[in-house]
Order: sequence, then C-alpha cells, then structure tokens
Amino acid sequence: MTEEKYFIGVDLGGTNIKAVAMNREGKIFHQQNIPTESEKGPLPVIDKLVLLIESVRRKKDVTRRSLGAIGVAVAGAVDMKQGICRFLTNFPTKWKGIPLASRIKERTGCTSFLINDVRAITLAEKTFGAGRKVKNLVCIALGTGIGGGIVIDGKLHFGSKGFAGEIGHQTISMDGPKCGCGNYGCFEALASGSNIASQAIRFIKQGRSTMIRDLVEGDLNRITPEVVAKAARQGDEVAREIWEKEACYVGIGIANLVVSLDPEMVIIGGGIAKAADLLFEGIKKELSRRVYVDPDVSRLKIVKSEFGDIAGAVGAATWAMMNVF
Ligand SMILES: [Zn+2]
Repeated sequence: MTEEKYFIGVDLGGTNIKAVAMNREGKIFHQQNIPTESEKGPLPVIDKLVLLIESVRRKKDVTRRSLGAIGVAVAGAVDMKQGICRFLTNFPTKWKGIPLASRIKERTGCTSFLINDVRAITLAEKTFGAGRKVKNLVCIALGTGIGGGIVIDGKLHFGSKGFAGEIGHQTISMDGPKCGCGNYGCFEALASGSNIASQAIRFIKQGRSTMIRDLVEGDLNRITPEVVAKAARQGDEVAREIWEKEACYVGIGIANLVVSLDPEMVIIGGGIAKAADLLFEGIKKELSRRVYVDPDVSRLKIVKSEFGDIAGAVGAATWAMMNVF
C-alpha cells in the first residue's frame, strides 16, 4: 500500500506564521502557529518558518504520511514562477528579491511554492470552502489592508502579470486619502481595518460623545475594529455611523467587481468579516443603489469565509497540491 501524500501550507503573516498539514481531500490533520517577529528581518523569520515546518513534519498524525510539497502564502507580491518575494506589505525589513522557495527547499529538502495570501484564501474557499460549488466568485479579505482573489470559470485568475485580484487598490474616491501603494482614494485607504480605528479616533478628537473612549479606558491607541463593533452592537451612534460608512465603501468596491465580473458569490474574509452582522445588510443596500445591469443583484450571495483564520494556510497547501498534480 502506498503512503498517503500530504501537503504543508504555511501562511507567513506580519504577526503570526500559521501552518496546516492537509491531505488531497482537504482534510486538515494538524495545525500550528508561532509569532513571526517580522521586525527581526528575513533570516530569523525564515529560520522560524523552517522550524515550524519541521515541527509539523514530526507530529504523530503526519509521520505516517509522505510530504508532497510545501505551499507558502505571503502577504504581498511574489514571483510565483521563480519563488521570489517582491514586495511584502506588512514586513518592515527588506524582503525584496529573497528567493524564499529555494531557501525552504535547501533547508527542508522539499519543493515549495509561493502565492499571495489572499489568492491563497480564494483557492482554499474555492476548492474546499464556501465556494466549492461555484464557478465564478470573488473573495475579499478585509483586514489591516484589503486583498482579493478572482475565480473565473472555476479557475483562479492571475492576469497577465500575476497581480489580478489586487482589488484593494481600485480607486473609490477621486480625492480620497493617500494609500500605502502611492495612489489616492483606494478602496484600502478608505475601508481597511486601520481606517475604522482612525475614524473613531478622529470623531473622539472632534469631541463626539461615544462609548468607544470608555471601552478603551481613554487609551485611543487601543481602538480596534472589534472595539468599534462592540460599541455599534450596543447602539453607540458614532460606532454605528462608522460601520454604516464601512458597509457603504465595501458595497461600492463590490459593485465595481459585480459589474466587471458578474460573480455568483462574494466571499468575505479577514478580521473585519467577524462584523458581518454590521456590514452585510449595508453592502446589499449599496449594491442595489449602484448596480443596474443586474436587476437581481439583491440576491447575490455574500457569505463569510469558511476557513476563517487558517484560510491562507489551507490555500497555500492547496496551491502546493495543485502544482504537484
Ligand atoms: Zn492603493
């Protein structure tokens, strides 16, 4: 009897490195996380990543299977063919040009494949998650930044240069704030998690009365989208206003994707998806206000990511598997 093959998926994030071991059917039999400590720079981070992979390989459920390949999801731009990092958004130190895939191969003896993290999430949801029965979908990760992935006719779409899905950098407002990418008024500059917190801070500094200040005991640095969501659920007017505006921006971003791509489903992941109760109705309203080419747009399926926090790692394992078979 041949040994069952398994795949390791690693999600290299700015805060944590997450790993899963998964078989071809998408069954996850082990998962593990460690802090990234990205401020230490590429070499120590690669050391940690390799240690995590080796630790996963030693687990009891894993040792009786044979490792097929490793997939690594990276927050930023990667050269998938050459396995090189191009531009990593949440890493303070120099990662540009690091041949991550070959470094992992040298250290683990196993072939590895890189992919952008949100493209990985999209692949996970399309193959084993919320979108497994759907041929055309868009996946949006709403977090500190905004990323995306597009599936057309059952296939993840990379575009001619590989950056298709960078939907966070579509312009939503002509005169909007400056985005990290250099443009003004990007979707990400207006609707990311960091923006929710900074809006709350601005309202407090303008003297608006809100329980957000009490929830963080006056320490405005502690304001997060979760805090603003908590206040909104308790009926706080300022918090509700912030989430209404957020739903409006996200609705505009999705409306642009709907008229361009005509998807059957929109999957929303990332930390902000946890506030689906505050967002989805407003998104639907915005779609009805803006999309006229589809009279049934109110029935568009907008759903939460099924894999949640491990979607990136699951997608990375899926990507490794797809490259092997
Ligand atoms: Zn941008």
